[in-house]
Amino acid sequence: MTPTSPTTAEVVCSFCGRSSAVVERIVAGPAVYICNDCVALCAELVADPPPRAGDKLPWRVDTDLATVLDALPRMLLAQNQAADHLARWVGRARELGATWAQVGAALGTTRQSAWERFSGEE
Ligand SMILES: [Zn+2]
Repeated sequence: MTPTSPTTAEVVCSFCGRSSAVVERIVAGPAVYICNDCVALCAELVADPPPRAGDKLPWRVDTDLATVLDALPRMLLAQNQAADHLARWVGRARELGATWAQVGAALGTTRQSAWERFSGEE
């Protein structure tokens, strides 16, 4: 696995952080993406769980500094992807008639906080 910094047009796997440019395929889910390699690894883990949690996981964070620093931009992009997805769901809730109070309650925040974060108004 050779991590690269993704461009903003690419999506990154929410599990391993690799971009769509370096993996064979990425599947989009609700606020997440997963690459073909992580799907295969997850299937292995479900079929034959490792004796200790985290043993085989490529998305562990307790690795060397250079690897962690290299991963940071990809992790930020993954976070931004999830935030964009949440904003689209909030937009859809509003299109369906949800009030800002309902959106805030669903997100565990106030009407005002929901409006400030998602309305696009200032
Ligand atoms: Zn992956």
